[in-house]
Formats: sequence, C-alpha cells, structure tokens
Amino acid sequence: MRLARPLENLIDQLLKLPTIGPKTAQRLALYILKMPPAEARQLAQAIIDAREKVFPCSRCGYLTDSNPCAICQDESRDKEILCVAEEASDIIAIERTGYKGRYYVLNKNFNLMGDNNLEELNLDPFIKQLAAGTIKEVVLALNPDIEGEVMARYLAGIAVNHGVKATRLAHGLPVGGDIEFADEITLRRALEGRKEI
Ligand SMILES: [Zn+2]
Repeated sequence: MRLARPLENLIDQLLKLPTIGPKTAQRLALYILKMPPAEARQLAQAIIDAREKVFPCSRCGYLTDSNPCAICQDESRDKEILCVAEEASDIIAIERTGYKGRYYVLNKNFNLMGDNNLEELNLDPFIKQLAAGTIKEVVLALNPDIEGEVMARYLAGIAVNHGVKATRLAHGLPVGGDIEFADEITLRRALEGRKEI
C-alpha cells in the first residue's frame, strides 16, 4: 500500500535522525499528523530556529545564539582553567558537576585511525587562548578511548609548549564510554582526581 506522498516524505525525513528506525519514524509521523496544527507548526519552527540561530561560539566552540557565548562572557568563571571536550553535549554533562572554569569544544568527530584529521581540526582559537597567557591549566576531558587518548596527548603537547599544565580526567570513567553519558558523581570524581600528563 502506498502512503500519501507528504506522509512518506515526513517518514523519510525522520528516518535520517539517529536512533530512529522505520517503525519509530512511522509512529512519530502518525503522531505528528494527529497534533493540533499550531503545535505541529511550533515543532517545525523550533527545528528551523535551532538550526538557523544556534552556532558554535567563536571562542570556545560551545553551542550558542550569542557570540561569545554566555559561559565565555561570564566574568565570575575561573579564567585560568580551560576544559577541552569533544562535543557540546559533554559540556552539558561537565556543567552539572559544578565546574566553574572555561571550555574549549573540538566539535569534530576526529577519526585518527582514518584520515589525517589532526591537521583538519582548527585549533587556532585554542592556541590563541593559550598564547594569551591567562590559562594555567588545560583539563583534557576527552572520551576514554584510543582516539581520545591520542588526541589528549597531542593537545597536552601543545599546552606544555605554551608553558601550560595539562591534566586528564582521572580513571573511573568507563573505558570506551562517552563523557556525555557519564553520571554526575563519576564525572565529578574524575574531574577532581585529574592527573597531569
Ligand atoms: Zn564561548
């Protein structure tokens, strides 16, 4: 049986999202069809707004709708400590631990086993911040997998070359796990027990 073309199109679009399989896409599409028109329009508008108005902060890479972002503009935060994370979602997790320093988000899925992605990463804003001389410690909050390890060593090398101490989160985080999904207590302990590398 052929579905109405707009419905088919909606299912196809939803299928592009991560973790959404054909059954879920169909269920969501049918749910959207039952929504009051105003609500469906709000959902569509929210997608458009988020996509068009949210961008990475030019200083730290965190997702923001103002540049620099609210974290970078917050004068009460510790300017001497810079936490480097892979994704903006990691920042959300680290913020919950009560960390009060600044951030630098790589915003890139680096595949060190594949191409020469280290060169593709734009680290200029990171290097610029180190060169400014305010930062005393770089905390490398990268995922505890091989790629995170290699990346951490690479970034630690850059920090040390600028006379800045580099630390890594303590163990206790599940190996191969995602910082994004670490529970608050494990992550806070890992942050408190960070070690110099
Ligand atoms: Zn920022």
